[in-house]
Amino acid sequence: MESWRSLEHVLSMQGGDDDVSYVNNCYGPAAALALSKPMLTSAIRSIKLTRGSSSSSFFHLKIADLGCAIGDNTFSTIDTVVEVLRQKLAVDDDGSEPEFEVFFSDLPTNDFNTLFRSLDEKVMNGSIRKYFAAGVPGSFYKRLFPKGQLHVVVTMSALQWLSQIPEKVMEKGSKSWNKGRVWIEGAEKEVVEAYGEQSDKDLVEFLKCRKEEIVVGGVLFMLMGGRPSGSVSQIGDPDSSLKHPFTTLMDQAWQDLVDEGLIEEEKRDGFNIPVYFRSTEEIASAIDRCGGFKIEKTENLRIADHMNGKQEELMKDPDSYGRSRANYAQAGLKPIVEAYLGPDLTRKLFKRYAIGAAANKDILNKNCFYHMIAISAIRV
Ligand code: SAH
Repeated sequence: MESWRSLEHVLSMQGGDDDVSYVNNCYGPAAALALSKPMLTSAIRSIKLTRGSSSSSFFHLKIADLGCAIGDNTFSTIDTVVEVLRQKLAVDDDGSEPEFEVFFSDLPTNDFNTLFRSLDEKVMNGSIRKYFAAGVPGSFYKRLFPKGQLHVVVTMSALQWLSQIPEKVMEKGSKSWNKGRVWIEGAEKEVVEAYGEQSDKDLVEFLKCRKEEIVVGGVLFMLMGGRPSGSVSQIGDPDSSLKHPFTTLMDQAWQDLVDEGLIEEEKRDGFNIPVYFRSTEEIASAIDRCGGFKIEKTENLRIADHMNGKQEELMKDPDSYGRSRANYAQAGLKPIVEAYLGPDLTRKLFKRYAIGAAANKDILNKNCFYHMIAISAIRV
């Protein structure tokens, strides 16, 4: 299925609100948001806008959330940004209320219906919305807005997704053909390098677009899956490496499909998860080469894997534990796996993943950490 490579037409988090939906399984990114909130708050406070310094009116501020997905994380991010701006602007207020326009942006396959329905529910429940909302479909690796429009751009737990599987990784039989694996942790160095090149190209492209769109003095805040400085491994923490939803268990589930004769080995080898965890140095270097931004602050965050606080409860029942792990994996991966394998095999794959997780629950239950990087920059 060649069209599968055209990622921006198939990639999304799982929509709706059932057990495997992103809405019900976004606790990893939620923990990352909570940890980065103090930094986000001070980044927004450092916005360098003075009356009349931009082409658009000071009292009409435009905020974009790129890779917004759906669910509580989306709204809590925007609520923080709007609240901090409101407080900041109130200081030199001359009586007129600032107005905020928020652009929720993601790939066209994102479940925008669920997003806007829950925004509506928030308003109806009395949590008064303090901004105008709009949806912007499209890839953040391309231009999404007219020049010099945006005052604040945030992108949370999204930039680790690449624009495509690197061409070299799709060349059957080459050294960079990712045999026996669906992700790059522990893969041949040629595979990892091909991902690294793609990731660099993508990030520079992302920054070039934002450089056009953000007003001078505006803020760019990026939180993304990253890896510890100097780590060759994508994950760093050896315990996490075993337990990451993209690694050992996932490879085993695909291997089960191969062993049971349900798919050819080559079919498995042709599937790759388009995610790369950059190091701080790689991000800083891309920002430097792009120009137009001054880095204000960088933070490395360690996010504990806590299964939404239900870990201990789930441990009592291996099946529930396995299912819960599989739900989490599906929330992020089901749409791209399904586009590649179809619904029937996808169901079988995640069933095997759940069985594997249940059988390994004691190892999986050990504490582990995921690494994230937060960077705030000012458009100069
Ligand atoms: N910001 C949310 C969602 C994180 S999930 C949160 O904090 O919970 C990552 C999101 O990035 C997904 O919704 C995915 O569709 C989106 N994404 C991935 N690649 C993208 C791209 N090229 N352009 C826009 N959005 C993208």
